[in-house]
Amino acid sequence: TAARVPAVVGEALRVPLVTGGRIGYANLDHAASAPCLRSVRDAVDELLPWYASVHRGAGFASQVCTRVYEGARAKLRAFTGARDTDAVVFTRNTTDALNLLAKALPRATSVVVFDTEHHAALLPWGSGPRVRRLPAPATPEDAVEALDAALAACPEGPRLAVLTGASNVTGEVWPVAELARVARRRGARTVLDAAQLAPHRPVRIGELDIDYVAISGHKLYAPFGAGALVGRADWLNAADPYLAGGGATRAVRDSSVGWNLGPERHEAGSPNTVGVHALAAACQTLAADGWRPVIEHEALLLRRLRAGLGEVPGLRELSLFGTGHDRVGVVSFTVDGRDPGLLAAALSAEHGIGVRDGLFCAHLAMQRLLAESGADSQRALRVSVGLGTMTEHVDRLVAALHRLVAEGPRWRYEQVDGRWVP
Ligand code: PMP
Repeated sequence: TAARVPAVVGEALRVPLVTGGRIGYANLDHAASAPCLRSVRDAVDELLPWYASVHRGAGFASQVCTRVYEGARAKLRAFTGARDTDAVVFTRNTTDALNLLAKALPRATSVVVFDTEHHAALLPWGSGPRVRRLPAPATPEDAVEALDAALAACPEGPRLAVLTGASNVTGEVWPVAELARVARRRGARTVLDAAQLAPHRPVRIGELDIDYVAISGHKLYAPFGAGALVGRADWLNAADPYLAGGGATRAVRDSSVGWNLGPERHEAGSPNTVGVHALAAACQTLAADGWRPVIEHEALLLRRLRAGLGEVPGLRELSLFGTGHDRVGVVSFTVDGRDPGLLAAALSAEHGIGVRDGLFCAHLAMQRLLAESGADSQRALRVSVGLGTMTEHVDRLVAALHRLVAEGPRWRYEQVDGRWVP
């Protein structure tokens, strides 16, 4: 937990728990971005001296990077259990991947999406007459039924069901295989937003029988800037390039452009070789031991976290499907009579604990969850754990919350630009 205080920390930013230039910081915000794995850092360190352009360079370093870049594609294919015919397109993140798919949909595709989705999965399809937003289901079974009915009512033509692996607000796991089954029966394709599920559980395209999956490297213990869309190549090959530019073209003449087929069609511009190498290294590490260490570590932390939170007076946990439902290491809650923003600020400033507060880019989901929980707040706090979390972090959070709820913050805070600062 003890890391050296970075030089970019200015004096205005108070840092608690600093001893001898080191800070004991508990990052309980893995669902936003997870800290880098050591194996990922090693992979990046190894590649950086060979940093060069891919595909078009004749030099040795360019050839190294080209192999690394295409090797990462193969690793992503293995990680997602893709079919041989699936394309692996590198993107910046999940948002980028889902927007790419939205731009590649055949004309007049009907889209069905639950309004509980993260905005990255809710918004790229627009709001035209062919986009049907389903209200939040009360149970996983209701979700399957609602999707089935909505797809049955779609007009003739291509259909896409947008699914989520795990909620970024509650961590609850959606019944992806069942939803995919009804979609298949109704002749619809499926895309899975796996931003939150993929860091915690295996996501295998073939086994789930989904058509596309979108992931982000920075949630998978790799640095920012690399993600992927993996799935059926036909719509992608038929669509206009996502970005127009070098690398996406076969031949350019005065009056015409011949675009590449395959992932290059949508990857114009110099790609993020280091980023995809890091992402692929993270994927390999996570899957290395068949996921057991990851799943067991998180289950232990989550049990401890929820047991501890359950003892905090006035704390209301948010839940879509009921608090007993399967979830990954994400818990959102309110505390009666306490401003979540102030609690989050005091957790950071006074206790060295990083959490998140707000609406988590899921405004429609949050409206419903807050109303149903009877919360007296329009926002919530979110705590999320992962491979960078130790039981000591969880215990520190629970103790800090008890203290803040009982005694209030030790320091005085004021609101600046909507945020509480000490
Ligand atoms: N979907 C879900 C469920 C998420 O949690 C997030 C990130 N909070 C996204 C999509 C978007 O991911 P990114 O910001 O990496 O594009």
